[in-house]
Amino acid sequence: MRTTILGYPRIGAHRELKFAVEDYWAGRSDAAALTRTARELRRAVWTELRDAGLDTIPSNTFSLYDHMLDTSVLVDAVPDRYRHLTGLDRYFAMARGVPDVPALEMTKWFDTNYHYIVPEIGPGTRFALAEGARAKPIAEYQEARGLGVETRPVLVGPLTYLLLAKAAPDAPAGFRPLDLLDGLVEVYAELLERLAGAGAAWVQLDEPAFVADRTDAETAALARVYRRLAALPSRPRILVASYFGTIGADALRALGTAPVEAVALDFVAGPRNVDVLGSIGGLPRTTVVAGMVDGRNVWRTDVARVKAVLPALLGLSDKVEVSTSCSLLHVPLDLDAETALPADVRGRLAFARQKVAEVVALGRTLDLDAPAPARPRPDPRVRARLDVLDDARRGDRAVRFAAQRARLGLPDLATTTIGSFPQTAALRRARADHKAGRLDDAAYTRAMKDEIARVVRLQEDIGLDVLVHGEPERNDMVQYFAEQLDGYAATEHGWVQSYGTRCVRPPILYGDVSRPRPMTVEWTTYAQSLTNRPVKGMLTGPVTMLAWSFVRDDQPLADTARQVALALRDEIGDLEAAGIGVVQVDEPALRELLPPRRAEHADYLAWAVGAFRLATSGVADATQIHTHMCYAEFGEIIGAIGDLDADVTSVEAARSAMELVGDLRAAGYANGIGPGVYDIHSPRVPSAEEIERNLRAALRAVGPERLWVNPDCGLKTRAYPETEAALRNMVAAARAVRAAP
Ligand code: GLN
Ligand code: ZN
Repeated sequence: MRTTILGYPRIGAHRELKFAVEDYWAGRSDAAALTRTARELRRAVWTELRDAGLDTIPSNTFSLYDHMLDTSVLVDAVPDRYRHLTGLDRYFAMARGVPDVPALEMTKWFDTNYHYIVPEIGPGTRFALAEGARAKPIAEYQEARGLGVETRPVLVGPLTYLLLAKAAPDAPAGFRPLDLLDGLVEVYAELLERLAGAGAAWVQLDEPAFVADRTDAETAALARVYRRLAALPSRPRILVASYFGTIGADALRALGTAPVEAVALDFVAGPRNVDVLGSIGGLPRTTVVAGMVDGRNVWRTDVARVKAVLPALLGLSDKVEVSTSCSLLHVPLDLDAETALPADVRGRLAFARQKVAEVVALGRTLDLDAPAPARPRPDPRVRARLDVLDDARRGDRAVRFAAQRARLGLPDLATTTIGSFPQTAALRRARADHKAGRLDDAAYTRAMKDEIARVVRLQEDIGLDVLVHGEPERNDMVQYFAEQLDGYAATEHGWVQSYGTRCVRPPILYGDVSRPRPMTVEWTTYAQSLTNRPVKGMLTGPVTMLAWSFVRDDQPLADTARQVALALRDEIGDLEAAGIGVVQVDEPALRELLPPRRAEHADYLAWAVGAFRLATSGVADATQIHTHMCYAEFGEIIGAIGDLDADVTSVEAARSAMELVGDLRAAGYANGIGPGVYDIHSPRVPSAEEIERNLRAALRAVGPERLWVNPDCGLKTRAYPETEAALRNMVAAARAVRAAP
């Protein structure tokens, strides 16, 4: 069987891309140096993939920042505010903004942790194909060819591009980017003709948008677009790639009749793709590029699963090729770079390089050299406890409310923060020195406690009601806990691009999760010992722990979430026993893991909510549970937020606080609400009057005893001067409203 992959990591083995781009931004290097590094990174990937023995190698998977942004530049979907700039200045201004010109919006690429730059399309957008070196897919195809590597340029498909775009702010109501589809398709037509002219035999068009629910009109548009592109007199053969789920039957049929020469289907995230293929009677004239090797996760491929699917496929299509389920952008580059992973865990892993080798081996022999890796040994203690705690929930809300009011003695419009305080250079250095052994445990603990004491004093001085310890000891809200839980491993070099030059190293959840010892109690109780005001303990919720990790795939996510929840439940119990009366369990990723299809939402939300409740329901009525989410557009999860049954929910309030609170109340949410009263993503200090207005608006939808006053997220990325000023204004605003409601 022939072999290929849908995409590859582009940051380099040592994150060369990150450092080259950041050097360029800082003026430490020039465009020529950046171009040289980029060229070298592309060369390394192409030659590596060729030497690995893949039959077809993708190109145009490289990007200086983001492939959606590249596409916007390629088709000249450049909003007017950037047009006075040129070249790299324009490109990076669209990504990050420049003084006076804000950046384009950024958002998550489907349910991954990769973020793309959202195209902004208005009725005035006139698509046109970029010329010369800016026609990046052509330029990179030629560059690879110059190195003797024949490639298949990868493009974001025109439907997915427009479906992920947003209407420009000045577009009339009702305008949809998809309205401009026909114009965009003509640009793609020209691009395909030029790629053919340059010698490209194949092109890949990514249309993952069709694994989500789509309207009939959208599916009809897919049919029309690919019929048009397939009818071009001179073009490369077309591979349409769908991934991250199960493609719609109508969409698949449309591609088959267009006809395009090949369709890529994801048999990892969308095992039901086999049934869809069967339901339309197969694709007798089309090659199926079978995504058998998981591009989203770090596990070695289970050959038994491949052998169960491939024979069925052979009966349903003209030809089958073996591939990854999606681009390998989402996994670290090379397992061989890791030196400290436990041997049994390591034996189960494959990173991008190892996955390419798997694809090649599967193509040659329909087999892998080594047997399927053993499953992790179950931990009977974890399993037994889970069986007992089946449907955990807390007592009556009104009773809890009264008990907490009596215990905490808080004023109306209680003020608090979301957890972290600014992470200074000195703090980061202390953590790094401790990790490297340059700072011993005692000195490290002293440094952290000094910081906690400072942050507690500051909060008392500002006059906040519920204090936090400030999270100085946390590198990252998931990794901090993963490092302390059994069943989790950290990598040394497992970097994955999150957005632009930002890379993350997700921990690997490989086995049954349990908590060998308390994780936060020492820091939290130390903070509480310094003040008479309540200190809020701070934990990361089960769904977020999964969403930002690589997670075992040998049991349902729901089961894994319950194990994490159980560990958190123990931690909350220990905090409570140590006298902590308020605990916040952050779930900023709750919405992220929503499956692409609506029919699957209820199942997901049931286990996600169940895990949160398992974690938080072990406490007394008088112990107050908070949660926090980093988004204001609740949409499909608004009911689930109430089901979490936290006593207080704080959320980002990008729109007005009033609207947000109103929406939540309308959906039946009856507990405390802390709409973020100012945006922490910017250094701007809001005035007390402005915050006061927000609070008064929110009070129209919720009583003062249930309204909380807080910023919209943690403060770790901010500096002290603006943080202190903003919090003082926030407290002044709360006091003003209390005094004259
Ligand atoms: N408690 C965390 C903090 O304040 C929450 C972070 C988040 O919401 N992403 O940093
Ligand atoms: Zn947040």
